[in-house]
Amino acid sequence: MTIQQKIQSLKEELNNHNYNYYVLDNATISDVDFDIKLKELEKLEKQNPEFSDPNSPTQRVGGAITKNFKTVTHKNRMYSLDNSYSKDDLLDWEKRIQKGLGTTETQYTCELKFDGASINLTYENGQFIKAVTRGDGFQGDDVSTNIRTIKSIPLIPNGDFVSNFEMRGEIILPIDGFNKMNEERLENGEEEYRNPRNTASGSLKLQDSTEVAKRPLDCLLYQVVTSERKYKTHFESLENARKVGFKVPETIKLAKSIDQVFEFVNYWDVERHNLPYETDGIVIKVNNLQQQEELGYTAKAPRWAIAYKFKAEQVATILNEITYQVGRTGAITPVANLAPVQLAGTTVKRASLHNADQIEKLDIRVNDTVFVEKGGEIIPKIIAVDLTKRPESSKPTIYATNCPECNTKLVRTEGDAKHYCPNEFGCAPQITGRIQHFISRKAMDIDGLGGETVDLLRKEGLIQNYADLYDLTVKQVIPLERMAEKSAQNMISGIEKSKEIPFEKVLFALGIRFVGETVAKKLAKHFKSIDNIMTATFEELINADEIGDRIAQSILDFSSDATNIQLINRLKEYGLQLEVSPDSLKNQTNILQGQVFVVSGVFHQMSRNELKKAIEDNGGKVSSSISKKTNFIVAGDNMGPSKLIKAEDLGITIITEQDFIDKIN
Ligand code: AMP
Ligand code: ZN
Repeated sequence: MTIQQKIQSLKEELNNHNYNYYVLDNATISDVDFDIKLKELEKLEKQNPEFSDPNSPTQRVGGAITKNFKTVTHKNRMYSLDNSYSKDDLLDWEKRIQKGLGTTETQYTCELKFDGASINLTYENGQFIKAVTRGDGFQGDDVSTNIRTIKSIPLIPNGDFVSNFEMRGEIILPIDGFNKMNEERLENGEEEYRNPRNTASGSLKLQDSTEVAKRPLDCLLYQVVTSERKYKTHFESLENARKVGFKVPETIKLAKSIDQVFEFVNYWDVERHNLPYETDGIVIKVNNLQQQEELGYTAKAPRWAIAYKFKAEQVATILNEITYQVGRTGAITPVANLAPVQLAGTTVKRASLHNADQIEKLDIRVNDTVFVEKGGEIIPKIIAVDLTKRPESSKPTIYATNCPECNTKLVRTEGDAKHYCPNEFGCAPQITGRIQHFISRKAMDIDGLGGETVDLLRKEGLIQNYADLYDLTVKQVIPLERMAEKSAQNMISGIEKSKEIPFEKVLFALGIRFVGETVAKKLAKHFKSIDNIMTATFEELINADEIGDRIAQSILDFSSDATNIQLINRLKEYGLQLEVSPDSLKNQTNILQGQVFVVSGVFHQMSRNELKKAIEDNGGKVSSSISKKTNFIVAGDNMGPSKLIKAEDLGITIITEQDFIDKIN
């Protein structure tokens, strides 16, 4: 076998496994074996770059970064759909099209209307060329790099099909995958995504395709657009698209009459709640492609198709009680406890009330009859109060004044929607929450210790804060419920091992309000040690890259607290990494300390990003715009003329790439 044949056969084999796994949901190889083959292909392609191929399975793991998505004009406009809300609306639509066609001989396809982001995939000569978002229907963004990472999309359809075509479909995030993403975010102290639809469309515009590859996105196809007249009906074209590898949902149905359309509507009105992804309606299309052509389009939608929208499910129930939850940062969330009621296939007992303003705005009171809705959001919400059913004795809700857990008086700072419990060190859910955050994967990543055990350890009085973890012994934890000697040992050695976690993660783990993963990285880089951070002044803090007033104040609050100082001192004694390691300081100097650079134009010896990194590694600061504070402009080719004028006006020194390199060497 030649190298080329070997590469080709590996590609086909891997494509096949991808298809079986991601489209048919039927794995035909173990993950490990798949990886081995993929690595082998990767190696061969690297050694033989002449055979590299953008549609190779190796291109699906991500890696490429898109800074600016290119705007592309659609070859065929992407229309909206007209909506209908009742069977009468559908009957009217049928009348209209039959009049337009001059015949009552019409058949339909019925499809689910998927709630995600629409996408247009272009194929030429049977090969994937590009993927473009709907945009305004005339023009969209080229998101090909990100789309390639969605493995259920065939890059080279396999079998008899048209050869030049567009496939239209919806990028969706299945509910399970969405929930899993949110669990991880919660664990990391990040805010939850609101709904699968926005998260799916947001994913397409991520700059880093590796990030996209990690998300459980899927693509369901519903339209073949081609000038090749191979198929007579829409249904037939979709069935064939499925055969060559596209994920065309099995739920599509051919309806020979409008009554059969109604059957489909009735069925899915109930059954949709059992689907693994969200739908907000049904799409009915004239099946005959010739008839579609005759009917054509209005200014915004095809005449040959119509969407039928399900009613957002709503029920009325009684609000029994308003309770308050305390998060790890002390933030209070009011929760409506409802008389249990069936809604959209699940029993609803609770709904989020968001904050005090929301309660006041809707004038929600205990014993009210409230309308609960489950729309795009996973967590049901209260949308209105049935005032006609309000008991006479009813009184306006007075928002909690004290913490439900520790009874401390709540505070609310100007401009904050939420109330907070300020009793950081004495409030149980805050104590537990902070330790849970400390041990989480993106923080100290402590194996063998879970969230529930943390709560148990706290209840047993064994830990009060994260420093206490490092005093735990195997002997102490063995008597705990469900704790075998082996798992006790795992836990203690997991804690021990966390002493090697690098400083930036330790800093994130401390749970300082507003210091998330990225901010922690920036702080670690700028200040190099916890001591420098704890002793920094407000001015010094806001001088660091991307540190604003709010974060700076929060750090000051943290570091002026005696309990925190004591905790940090203990962590130091235990040997945690509280400064950046000498290794990562290699190649770093302070020669550019205090100097602010603006980088503009195109460079030759290093990329723009490398240049920026070199500035920061040597202690300088990179700013995106020229101001009085700028010391140097590193100018490459094609520096913008307006920048040049501004620089000259302000008398800022302009240096070349070579000048800069000389400077740091
Ligand atoms: P609208 O955004 O309400 O105008 O509806 C049109 C959009 O519905 C299209 O751009 C698609 O993204 C989406 N859609 C979802 N499922 C289908 C389907 N089966 N057929 C056509 N469009 C669909
Ligand atoms: Zn409290």
